[in-house]
Formats: sequence, C-alpha cells, structure tokens
Amino acid sequence: MLATNYRGIRRIRVSEKPMPEIKHPEDAIVRIVRSCICGSDLHLYNGNVPDTRVGMTFGHEFVGEVVEIGSEVTKLKVGDMVMVPFNIACGRCHYCKQGLFGNCHEANSEATAVGGFFGYAHVGGGYDGGQAEYARVPYANVSPTVIPPGMHVEDAVLLTDVVPTGYQAAEMGGIQKGDTVVVFGAGPVGIMAARCSWLFGAGRVIVLDDIDYRLEFVKNYAKCEAYNFKKDMDDPVVFLKKQTDWMGADVVIDAVGAEATGSALQTITGRKMLLQAGSATALHWAINSVKKGGIVSIVGVYGPTDNLVPIGNAMNKGLTIRGNQTAVKRHLPRLIEHVQNGILEPRKIITHRVPLEEAADAYRIFSDKLDNCIKPVLIP
Ligand code: NAD
Ligand code: ZN
Repeated sequence: MLATNYRGIRRIRVSEKPMPEIKHPEDAIVRIVRSCICGSDLHLYNGNVPDTRVGMTFGHEFVGEVVEIGSEVTKLKVGDMVMVPFNIACGRCHYCKQGLFGNCHEANSEATAVGGFFGYAHVGGGYDGGQAEYARVPYANVSPTVIPPGMHVEDAVLLTDVVPTGYQAAEMGGIQKGDTVVVFGAGPVGIMAARCSWLFGAGRVIVLDDIDYRLEFVKNYAKCEAYNFKKDMDDPVVFLKKQTDWMGADVVIDAVGAEATGSALQTITGRKMLLQAGSATALHWAINSVKKGGIVSIVGVYGPTDNLVPIGNAMNKGLTIRGNQTAVKRHLPRLIEHVQNGILEPRKIITHRVPLEEAADAYRIFSDKLDNCIKPVLIP
C-alpha cells in the first residue's frame, strides 16, 4: 500500500509499505478515505518531538471503511464507515475509566504522560498512522465510531481531533456566562476553540495570530474579534489588558504550542541534540494577559524543551492552568449532534484536498502557511 514515510526533518516521502495486519483479536483494519494533516504533525515534521523515527507513517485524523476485524471485535463490522479518534485507548485502564482517553495507560505503557496516538512518534506509543491507504486500528471496540447516515466524510474526519480539541479547549477554560475569552492561534484548533467558546456562554471572543488570511477567516467563521499581534499592537499583553479595562481576560486558550517557542530538537544520526532558543511566547502571553484568578487552557502541544514558563507570575496571580490531550471519544455524542444540526460546520475549514501521493507538498504548504492554507486533507 502507499503510505507517508518520514525521512527526517521536513522530509516526507510517499512510498510502498507492507499492508497492515491484524496483530491482536481487538484490532481492525481500515481503508482510509480521508486523512488530515494537523498542527501536531508539524511538530514532528519540524523536529520538535523526541524519538520521531525515520520510516514512521504519520497521521492521526482519519476516516475510512472497515475491511477486516479481529475475532474479538464486536462493535464494528466489515463495510462500516468509521471515524477513528486520534487517541488509541483501551477503554478499561484507570484513566480510560475516568474518560481520560488521551492518557490511556495500556495503549502506551512506556510513557509517563501521554497515552497512545496514531502516527505520533515513539512518545505516542510508536503506532503507524493514517496518512496511508490502510491503517491498523487497535482496541477497535473502544473509540472508532460509525459515521452517522448523511454525515459528510469531511465533517467526520474533523471530529477525530480538531472539533473535539477546540471544544475541550473551551471546556477546560471553565467559561462563565459573559466571560471574555482570548484565543492565541488561528489555526484549525484555535478557530474551532473560538467558535466553541460561544457554546459555553462567552460574552466576547478575541483571537490573536500573525497570519492575516487566518484572522480574516476566523472573524467570519467564529464571529469573533481577530487581531494581528505583529501589526495591530506593540505588546499583546498590554493590548489585551487595554481591551479588558486593565483586568485581563477571564479565560485564555493557548492553541499554538511548540512552533512559537523557537525551540528545536534535532536528531543527528541517532544522537539527540536539544536546542533551547527563546521562550514559550504564546504561553507567556497567556499567563500574563489572563486576569488574576483566571484560567489558562492549554491545548497547544509543547515538547520537552519548552519548560520556560513564567511560573512565578502564574503563582502570584493565583491562576488555574489546565491542559491535556483531548479525550475525543468523550465529546463525540454531543459534537456529532452539533454537526448534524448545523451549530458547528467543520468542513468549512478545509482549504486543500490533496492526493496522498502529494503529501510532501501538502506538508510544506501547511507548515509554511502558503496558498491561504488552513486545513489540508489527504485523499488516498
Ligand atoms: P497550526 O500550526 O495550523 O496553527 C497554529 C497557529 O498559531 C498558526 O496560525 C500560527 O501562525 C499561530 N501562532 C504562532 N505563534 C503564535 C503566537 N505567539 N501567538 C498567537 N498565534 C501564534 O496548528 P493547529 O492544527 O491549529 O494546532 C494548534 C496546536 O494545537 C498545535 O500545537 C497542536 O499540536 C495542538 N493540538 C493539540 C491537541 C490536543 O489534543 N491537545 C489536538 C490537536 C492539536
Ligand atoms: Zn491532530
């Protein structure tokens, strides 16, 4: 089968790989019809995630047809069209039982922090992902969900990560009626977080980024205010204080993550070299622009080198800082409904539909913010 094949920093190739096989009675094999590239993939692509090994197939946002099931799969049958949440979760460990599907202990027992993820380096358990023609889906009784009749596959594919992540970002913010919510980042996740903030009762939503076409998009799509932090202000923290009567925002969401920190991790012939440059900008701004006693909700993904947060300010301001990998499965019933009744319109964020063979171009365009790209989807 054809699959993406990581060859080193900023080098993706599409090549022949062996067909995935059932390795465990609870596995399923899925023939992929849509597979997105995510901002999280860019951390791998740009060398910000440790233990990203050459030969890996990326991709954790995919939908497709079940073509084979293991002997213990009871919830799916061959021929089902399924959306496959990015978390690989066993459904029965200490964490899964609490709905913390992003922290499953069984799917990734070697990691201390994260659970198992498709196509997410060896820190995510080393599972091959879905930017390919086929994928092996472990624990197929737990997370994969049959796409409801009438739902567009491109809405379904965004329910495997981006929509639940935007939603959970807003949920973790503990938004109260009338709150001012600031979102750093107008990528797919920030866009969805801005839109979902209204569902929790926000009174005002402000998004900051430095890419004009994304700011234009989010302003219309999420009916919010949007500012360019390089053009519209000298200092984002002062700007946001001014916007909020010098109080600070009630809730600040970080939907940026590692790329904004200038930190990089490079693997050189098996030896890892950590380079720390600059500080965690969006996260600094978030902590410094939220009000005293406010909540900072972090969905942006940081690498192990990103430890320079202004913890003193956070402590003195009495902040609550929350973050996690999204527990996709927990949100699906509600979000499927929101998509079906038009409250959320995920596929409007897809700007690029690209044959799998051209994945390398799609990565470059998405990473470098070219051609007004917001969300690319690969079509095997
Ligand atoms: P993206 O790269 O498309 O978007 C990031 C945006 O942040 C870009 O538009 C960029 O211009 C902007 N940006 C950069 N520096 C900034 C700064 N200092 N202030 C404000 N904006 C800044 O990525 P995405 O797909 O939208 O994902 C966003 C983040 O969410 C990534 O870190 C990704 O790994 C993470 N993520 C987390 C989860 C989760 O489960 N927690 C799931 C999906 C994605
Ligand atoms: Zn993703």
